[in-house]
Amino acid sequence: MEKTNVPEMFGSLVFDDRVMRARLSDDVYASLKKTIDENTRLDEHVADAVAEEMKSWAIENGATHFTHWFQPLTGVTAEKHDSFISPSPDGGVLMEFSGKELIKGEPDASSFPSGGLRATFEARGYTAWDPTSYAFIKDHTLCIPTAFCSYSGEALDKKTPLLRSMQAINKQAKRILKLFGTDCKYVRTSVGPEQEYFLVDKEVFNKRPDLKYTGRTLFGAMPPKGQEMDDHYFGVIKPRVTEYMEDLNQELWKLGILAKTEHNEVAPAQHELAPIYSTTNVATDSNQLTMEIMKKVAARHGMECLLHEKPFAGVNGSGKHNNWSIGTDTGINLLSPGKTPYENAQFLLFLCAVIQAVDDYQDLLRLSVATAGNDHRLGANEAPPAIISIFLGDELTGILNAIRNDEPYEGTEKVVMKLGVHSLPSFSRDTTDRNRTSPFAFTGNKFEFRSLGSSNSIACCNIMLNAAVAESLRQYADILEKSENFEEDLHTLIKKVITDHQRILFDGNGYGEDWIVEATEKRGLLNLKTTADAMPRLLDKKNMDMLMAHKVFTEAELQSRCEIMLENYVKTVNIEALTMVDMVRKNYLPAIEGYLFKLAQTTSLMRQVSDKVKCNYEVSTIERLSELTDHILESVKALEDAIATLKDLPDIFKSSEFVRDTLLLTMESLRAYVDEAEMLTSQKDWPFPSYGQLLFSVN
Ligand code: ADP
Ligand code: MG
Repeated sequence: MEKTNVPEMFGSLVFDDRVMRARLSDDVYASLKKTIDENTRLDEHVADAVAEEMKSWAIENGATHFTHWFQPLTGVTAEKHDSFISPSPDGGVLMEFSGKELIKGEPDASSFPSGGLRATFEARGYTAWDPTSYAFIKDHTLCIPTAFCSYSGEALDKKTPLLRSMQAINKQAKRILKLFGTDCKYVRTSVGPEQEYFLVDKEVFNKRPDLKYTGRTLFGAMPPKGQEMDDHYFGVIKPRVTEYMEDLNQELWKLGILAKTEHNEVAPAQHELAPIYSTTNVATDSNQLTMEIMKKVAARHGMECLLHEKPFAGVNGSGKHNNWSIGTDTGINLLSPGKTPYENAQFLLFLCAVIQAVDDYQDLLRLSVATAGNDHRLGANEAPPAIISIFLGDELTGILNAIRNDEPYEGTEKVVMKLGVHSLPSFSRDTTDRNRTSPFAFTGNKFEFRSLGSSNSIACCNIMLNAAVAESLRQYADILEKSENFEEDLHTLIKKVITDHQRILFDGNGYGEDWIVEATEKRGLLNLKTTADAMPRLLDKKNMDMLMAHKVFTEAELQSRCEIMLENYVKTVNIEALTMVDMVRKNYLPAIEGYLFKLAQTTSLMRQVSDKVKCNYEVSTIERLSELTDHILESVKALEDAIATLKDLPDIFKSSEFVRDTLLLTMESLRAYVDEAEMLTSQKDWPFPSYGQLLFSVN
């Protein structure tokens, strides 16, 4: 590979601050910058001037088209390309792009999921420029990150509520900071998502209809070697994968995505990529792009990149870790302990806001990561459990306990700590003391939410997290703004929050059986195991009230989202079930039958040779395989019946419960019989590549 100049390449396809500063007039730049930083309205002349420069820059960099790039509720991004050309009177074309086209688009949106929103309100939707996320060039097309709304203003996408949640937390955090005398223009949350994925050889992948149609294997007996040796984690990266990662990094860097860390993960063929963190909406756009580019680059290298949460049973699935923190434009990380007593108290108050938010809105966090795919991971002893709890580490827990119990903490020279007066004892940010089993862990200056599935958009969980923390902060600001003795009341408040929300703090083994019992029975924490259990909680009064009070969602938006997410769950599993029926009827049963025929023929031929041959292998295999084909037939019929029943159920809640209680279980028992048959059948006669062939396909 030729030598690359990374700084030169970085962001070369992005209309970023460097480009804006260089190309826009001072006035236009200043006015746009104000819009970006302070969310002020952009006037039309400025929009025209920006559009003109954006177009020239894009054309110089090879673009011929532009698109409003948005994130409908399908979970993947959408784009509709328009070329810049416009006819000129002399028969030629001009390349045109106006401020109006930059600011607003009208895609034909009728086939995006809207959960009835568009029917009730307006038939069409429009896209609106998000100037806080830079435009970029992809496939000769200028992509303009946009929000997607109906004409009556209802959000039809994931970006709109995310931006609203960022505004909510900005507003409430600034109220708090004012009380501490901390000056800043704005407060923003930032995110660094660690992304896991699998790579399999394209040729092998193409032979598996289940992977092609559903993203995961629906059948497959365990290979003799899986991940039990732990030899893959951080292991030497294979040359073909190294080439892939290098190519991927370069593509991401050109798009201004700060791809930073890459390594092998626990399972064979599993890897991870982590970027340097950025502002939440930018990180969300970047993560969507990253997932798209990962797949595209894999194809170039003759591989398929699997982003499904559980492509292989019995082998670790893929997740995404959402590293989240909150900071000011002046560079203060509010989740980082400060140097003065005041800064420490401020840190503790923000810490409390997160603790309370996670406890009060466990269900929202859980449902924000709920999908049919992720249900296979959470609680399967490889990913955090479906129960949400927080890990703080020994030292911070010690400090909080000291405050809660009015006891001296070792570091504080035997005086009882008074917030706002005493300094926090310094505690190490050593991250060796990490609890990998916790769904929500404090890691020194940020929280790491680990329940996300690898294919989840990070928008959903950050909407909930931002909104829930905004709500804690609102409550604190309401109390403290009225306070006549700030230090006293602050101390009391922090003590109360730590006391009231003890149950959400848990540093032990989140994978253990004991924890489930303790969490649910003693602590009253929620254990929402599946999407069907979690999603309806979106419509609980306490959740709707909070999300609506902070103007993150309207009532209609919440109802439509709940419906869309459940529909997604039901459709996903239904496609899986149909794929199973197809594979069993067209391939597995005929293949086993073919093998049985060979065995039977062999047996009778052998017996003709001599009556002394026992044919033990042939006979016992025939007996068991023929029993199995009977079971397979019964199960596939049961599955067909279940699919038919599902069609007739009256509403989406009933359908999702049926998927959870019947369809998935029927699929599981069918799979078990087929997998057993695989172990008894000659590989030559088996119709699809085995787990071993899939997991060790990239060399
Ligand atoms: P690990 O695998 O040990 O959890 P990584 O280095 O792979 O750690 O990922 C940590 C992620 O956290 C990176 O994406 C990093 O940019 C991000 N991060 C670090 N500081 C912050 C912060 N203040 N806010 C948000 N994310 C952060
Ligand atoms: Mg991590």
